[in-house]
Amino acid sequence: MASHIVGYPRMGPKRELKFALESFWDKKSSAEDLQKVAADLRSSIWKQMAAAGIKYIPSNTFSYYDQVLDATSILGAVPPRYGWNGGEIGFDTYFSMARGNASVPAMEMTKWFDTNYHFIVPELGPDVNFSYASHKAVDEYKEAKALGVDTIPVLIGPVSYLLLSKPAKGVEKTFSLLSLLPKILPIYKEVIAELKAAGALWIQFDEPTLVLDLDSHQLQAFTAAYAELETTLSGLNVLIETYFADLTAEAYKTLTELKGVTAYGLDLVRGTQTIELIKSNFPKGKYLFAGVVDGRNIWANDLASSLSTLQALEAVVGKDKLVVSTSCSLLHTAVDLVNETKLDDEIKSWLAFAAQKVVEVNALAKALAGQKDEAFFTANASAQASRKSSPRVTNEAVQKAAAALKGSDHRRATNVTARLDAQQKKLNLPVLPTTTIGSFPQTLELRRVRREFKANKISEDDYVKAIKEEIKKVVDLQEELDIDVLVHGEPERNDMVEYFGEQLSGFAFTVNGWVQSYGSRCVKPPIIYGDVSRPKPMTVFWSSTAQSMTKRPMKGMLTGPVTILNWSFVRNDQPRFETCYQIALAIKDEVEDLEKAGINVIQIDEAALREGLPLRKSEHAFYQKWAVHSFRITNCGVQDTTQIHTHMCYSNFNDIIHSIIDMDADVITIENSRSDEKLLSVFREGVKYGAGIGPGVYDIHSPRIPSTEEIADRINKMLAVLETNILWVNPDCGLKTRKYAEVKPALSNMVAAAKLLRTQL
Ligand code: GLN
Ligand code: ZN
Repeated sequence: MASHIVGYPRMGPKRELKFALESFWDKKSSAEDLQKVAADLRSSIWKQMAAAGIKYIPSNTFSYYDQVLDATSILGAVPPRYGWNGGEIGFDTYFSMARGNASVPAMEMTKWFDTNYHFIVPELGPDVNFSYASHKAVDEYKEAKALGVDTIPVLIGPVSYLLLSKPAKGVEKTFSLLSLLPKILPIYKEVIAELKAAGALWIQFDEPTLVLDLDSHQLQAFTAAYAELETTLSGLNVLIETYFADLTAEAYKTLTELKGVTAYGLDLVRGTQTIELIKSNFPKGKYLFAGVVDGRNIWANDLASSLSTLQALEAVVGKDKLVVSTSCSLLHTAVDLVNETKLDDEIKSWLAFAAQKVVEVNALAKALAGQKDEAFFTANASAQASRKSSPRVTNEAVQKAAAALKGSDHRRATNVTARLDAQQKKLNLPVLPTTTIGSFPQTLELRRVRREFKANKISEDDYVKAIKEEIKKVVDLQEELDIDVLVHGEPERNDMVEYFGEQLSGFAFTVNGWVQSYGSRCVKPPIIYGDVSRPKPMTVFWSSTAQSMTKRPMKGMLTGPVTILNWSFVRNDQPRFETCYQIALAIKDEVEDLEKAGINVIQIDEAALREGLPLRKSEHAFYQKWAVHSFRITNCGVQDTTQIHTHMCYSNFNDIIHSIIDMDADVITIENSRSDEKLLSVFREGVKYGAGIGPGVYDIHSPRIPSTEEIADRINKMLAVLETNILWVNPDCGLKTRKYAEVKPALSNMVAAAKLLRTQL
């Protein structure tokens, strides 16, 4: 019985690759130093999997930046502006594409399906001259072989590569990416031939786009591509790996009829309907790589349940054709539980990070083969049972309250226009009111204070004093700038999700549970393990302290339930919406306490609402319904005179505009600064929007200081399509990562622009 791992995290258990990369980029270490760290990581991962007993161990899943960029390098598809002159692609060209260089910006980055991983989007036009320009896949295969590990080299499949690309500048509207298939397949053939010559017996093509909504033309491309590769692939076992969702019946049919393919890797954690497809029709003599161990989460596998799924599948596909695998690459989970020193043993027993998942895969494979490790299975069963019954997980009051929410809409009683009138009587704001999104620059000093307080190195009194001083500074600055609705600056927060997670029950935090987000960047999502409740107010003290320092309205600042959910590892023992409703109830308590404390404007950030959109269109409506409902739950109980703001961090919201309206916030501030046109087109097309709206008037991601004229010009453009009395003036996101030297003049120009336009209305 065999076992397989789809892919493995590259960063290392203690983010070794991150530090090596950043040191190399800062010119503090050499290319050889970086290569050495990378080779050591690869070697230890391969050896670890071999020692665990895994039969099909992947290679070429390591990357210095991103696996899609690696595929671009293999194909020599370097956009001309990087001035590459052929030959093997080296660090210079590679990192220029990834991060830009002094004269050319980086290539575009976008989210990898519905994960928090971001890949570098290939830019392809009719003139690309493909050539075999990176031998990385073959080099890694040989490197592992030299260490005594025969691996299964992994390539991004040719069709997914093209479907994930974007047309180069100038041909955006006209170019069919799939028309490049005949041009890239010859390069794939070269790679395959070289892998064969090096001794590879298997090859894995990742074709995750097969789980998307594809039309027949796109499905046909898979058929054509593998038919064309068939001769070159002969003699190899060929695995096509899909992940992240169910396959449609059409996609399953296309996949299982591909020429020259011997094995199918399927995500059986998210693909519950895929299991039915397998049971109803699986091609004779082919391998099923059954992804039963979740690569997207941190929970220990329910081994008994997986084993019974596998046994049922074994009856369908045959004993020697079933391979136990992960649902997708382990890239999307944390690396190794061994390094978690702060989690208690009970919670730890419920978890499995990548290293532990490798062991689970192997244990399942052995059990199927009749060599069940009884002790391991027993320990797993008792951990599963303890998770089910632990009082830390279940809070009946919360469960009841969440269940009671169903069936109701939770809308504010008065419509938004009437509410805005009532709020205006109280707030008395000028037209084109100015505000900011929440955070002000976080200085090193501020970070030090927070760190020392957490480590008990300074007293609570000293901490409160320091934070109060910071808030006072921020309030004074905003008054001096003459901003209308103030913020306290969020100096007490490290991170907008962690800050709330730490104060809510049902959350745990890791020390090293890092997951790669892009390049050397990693995030450390909190773990939601239990019913969520709010033991006591979380922000009321700071917000009312800030309000006491000014006569102007001070915004209370909260993170919304959907964003907290989407940026955490979520429990898998209840539906996501249930967990979201629980968080919504906790935030609702906070909203109401803020209101009682005299805070009249409350912002509930939903930066990640759109991120949670499922991959398949058929699931969008359901997600949007409960996500938007969760948001409304947080504020349906406030008075008309309390103004609810929300904020979102992306410009591309055309596809969710109706959800945004349905959130029924009084004011929404959104990122817009990189694409006025997209936003404006929504309103030009006649979408009725009656609430307040603040499309960011400048880009906070850049140190550049926008001039008053430039900002005024942009506000004017928006005034051309939006009613004057609903438009707000604000930057496009929080100012946390900027310096005061940038923030002061930028905000000063922003206020000047608003004032200038007020005189012209
Ligand atoms: N209120 C948060 C801030 O200003 C919002 C951050 C975000 O949208 N990502 O930092
Ligand atoms: Zn934002």
